[in-house]
Amino acid sequence: MSPPLGAHVSVAGGLARAFERGRAIGCDALQLFVKSPSQWRGRPLGAEETGAFRTEWAASGRPPLLAHAAYLINLAATDAEILGRSRAALADEAGRCAELGVPALVVHPGAHLGAGEAAGLAAVAASLDAVAGELAHCPTRILLELTAGQGSVLGSRLEQLAEIRARAACRDRLAICLDTCHAFAAGYEVGTAAGVEEFLAEVERTVGLGLVEGLHLNDSAGERGSRRDRHASIGAGRIGLAGFRRLLAEPRLASVPMVVETPLGDDELGHARDLERLRGLL
Ligand SMILES: [Zn+2]
Repeated sequence: MSPPLGAHVSVAGGLARAFERGRAIGCDALQLFVKSPSQWRGRPLGAEETGAFRTEWAASGRPPLLAHAAYLINLAATDAEILGRSRAALADEAGRCAELGVPALVVHPGAHLGAGEAAGLAAVAASLDAVAGELAHCPTRILLELTAGQGSVLGSRLEQLAEIRARAACRDRLAICLDTCHAFAAGYEVGTAAGVEEFLAEVERTVGLGLVEGLHLNDSAGERGSRRDRHASIGAGRIGLAGFRRLLAEPRLASVPMVVETPLGDDELGHARDLERLRGLL
């Protein structure tokens, strides 16, 4: 059994358009934005839009879906106004996911901006609890993403993700999303079979492999440990194909949606090529 493989697809022209784009490049899983990722708030979803989304999803055979939250969100923001906006934005996005039926929303934990790691992790956990409090019956799970750790960005160590979850009262609603580029940039050796083996053992020891509910398959333009979040096409970066092969073959991840977020290229066929390359490793 191999994992559902797919890509982050554009929702230009309407959320339901994601599915035809996914089908065109052979996606068995999709990631999408449920509103413009560079805005704090989007206009509310209408019944027509959610209906069209659900119809197209069913027509596509209900591939597993991940949503990705806006990059503006900083759940550890030190400015009260930005923190409030970040919490409201995450709650808004989780609510949209629930309306659409999207089960998982990926979010970057945030950046402590000089407040220090411990204060930052506590702030993220408090923010997640505040958001959960606003959405008592929201079935959408929040997936904390492993990050590259640029600047004061939190979440580049698996232990940090585990700590956020441990500190949050809403921990049962929190799961994990891994990203190969971020892991590599953060220093984890995910380019070899042995390296992936060790990485997975660390995932198991810290957060637990059973909590990994999404995976971003991206090559890295930056060196291992560079802390640079620069995605590259599969095989065109510094992560060895052997690492991707080992991840794709991991039975404990066989039902986890895995999506590429790689450069589209001038011909916009980058994701199609990357999916083909990954499927060639199976
Ligand atoms: Zn991400």
